[in-house]
Amino acid sequence: MGEISASHSAIMNYWKDKAIRNDGKIILEKRASITNYQDSIPVIEDWIIPKCWACGEIVNLPVKEHEKYDDIEINKIWNSAEVRRKLQKCHIVPAALDGEDTPENAFLMCKKCHLESPDTINKEAFFRWVYIKRKKNIYGHPFQEMLKDVDADLQARGLPTMNRMLIEYPDMDLSDIQELLSKKVSCHGAEVVDSSIVIGLADILAEKWTEYKKKM
Ligand SMILES: [Zn+2]
Repeated sequence: MGEISASHSAIMNYWKDKAIRNDGKIILEKRASITNYQDSIPVIEDWIIPKCWACGEIVNLPVKEHEKYDDIEINKIWNSAEVRRKLQKCHIVPAALDGEDTPENAFLMCKKCHLESPDTINKEAFFRWVYIKRKKNIYGHPFQEMLKDVDADLQARGLPTMNRMLIEYPDMDLSDIQELLSKKVSCHGAEVVDSSIVIGLADILAEKWTEYKKKM
């Protein structure tokens, strides 16, 4: 029963321009304006950095600097042995519940998320699970657990903790944190360790806080 026949790259190509809204609906994503979608997340944040589509854990690939990435190259990345080993082809609606063998019904996830994901005929419930999972994690690292270290780093810089910032500055926009972080934390070829995410987050919060204080 139920092997998915589409290749990893075929599944990726179906999903590469889609985003998940917080109500579990799938929308077409306009890449240029990701930041406008405060209530949605792109299924694939970066076409050349494969990650689990639920928790965001990165698949480590050999470093290839200064290379142009065309469709052929991108397909090669997604069909590489490493991606096929780390990201499982998962049914959205399980085969046992008559889920179809199509890229539309397939999702690439790490083993852990595959086991954890809900088996349901309700696609929107599945996507709401993905949405929440993604929001709770950064590069597969649980966000909440890292906050303690982020706070310690902020305080070492003479700044308030994240919670205190949010109390004084409740309008602080945190929706672009993942995007900003991907610019600060290099993830090509190297395992992203907690410490670089912690420092990156503290940097972003410190910058937002400084901007806010300037406006005061
Ligand atoms: Zn995962």
